[in-house]
Amino acid sequence: MKEKVENLDWNNLGFEYHDLPYDFEAKYKDGEWQPGELTTRSSVELSVAAEVLHYGQEVFEGLKAYRRKDGKINLFRPELNAERMVDSAERMMMVPYPVDAFVDAVKQVVKANEEFVPPYGTGASLYLRPFMIGTSSVVGVTPATDYTFHIYATPVGAYVNGLNPSPYTVSEYDRASYAGTGQAKTSGNYASSLFSSAKAHQEGYADCLFLDPREHKYVDEFGGANFFGITKEGQFVTPKSESILPSITKRSLLQLAKDQGLDPVERPVPFDEVDQFAEAGAMGTAAVISPVGSLTYEGKKHVFYSETEAGPVTTKLYNELVGIQYGDRPDPYNWTQTVD
Ligand SMILES: *Cc1c(COP(=O)(O)O)cnc(C)c1O
Repeated sequence: MKEKVENLDWNNLGFEYHDLPYDFEAKYKDGEWQPGELTTRSSVELSVAAEVLHYGQEVFEGLKAYRRKDGKINLFRPELNAERMVDSAERMMMVPYPVDAFVDAVKQVVKANEEFVPPYGTGASLYLRPFMIGTSSVVGVTPATDYTFHIYATPVGAYVNGLNPSPYTVSEYDRASYAGTGQAKTSGNYASSLFSSAKAHQEGYADCLFLDPREHKYVDEFGGANFFGITKEGQFVTPKSESILPSITKRSLLQLAKDQGLDPVERPVPFDEVDQFAEAGAMGTAAVISPVGSLTYEGKKHVFYSETEAGPVTTKLYNELVGIQYGDRPDPYNWTQTVD
């Protein structure tokens, strides 16, 4: 059922689906992308033999639209989501959706659902979920010939509980294999992370960190967020790995760290070295930064800055990035664009 704007409590939104008036959809058939359009249909009809249902040909993205103080709406680096979806699609043997068409479609969906972009000052935003699936009927394992590109939007609250640290554990399982699909934003990586996450939750942790799938020696990332640590010497360290997703939040924080006088470093991070970090966090669009209060592995618990309070460097970087996203701070990088 379609959501009614008067039923939403902007200050208490979670991270849940609300069925909004408009989605966007485009189809690939007969060897080309057909013109896409806004639609009031928020479901997809599939053959029982559809590729995506059996062989998992799916890629997705996640980005947000932010209500500014002046009432306008900001998007944050949407072209990077579009480009990453092209990369993910190529890895999954899918026909990429063109970058310009992606950004245009995102703007159309935001505009069409404008009344659902939460008010400035609530910390909430409009989350956009572009995705693409292989739809042709197949029995043998072969890439699809038909695809559907679709975007839905849903209002979401400030993820989790603001900038409060949470306890994390380390998974004994992998989310992506060595030389596998870890760099692609594809459903299969999430399917394989569910077991580890559920186990972490059962044990009282917010989530789990994955180690590199070849040796289980280096820090990789969380199921849906990259890892960073800040050394006492002022280095902003984030893992370089072939099996992690290139986070746009990470790329943005590396730049901000540099301009705040920190030393941004991307390198393999042996798990043994996490002890050296004065602060640590998880980075991704949903929460921007989730401070890592502690990390427990093989019975040993490492506490970072504090288990109850975010560290000063983390807080500064978070405020800077969120300030740019909502248009409260200058954007010398031209990362934001308004939806007109
Ligand atoms: C989406 C995602 C991230 C975060 O990427 P952002 O572009 O910062 O939102 C990190 N890790 C994984 C596995 C992801 O799927």
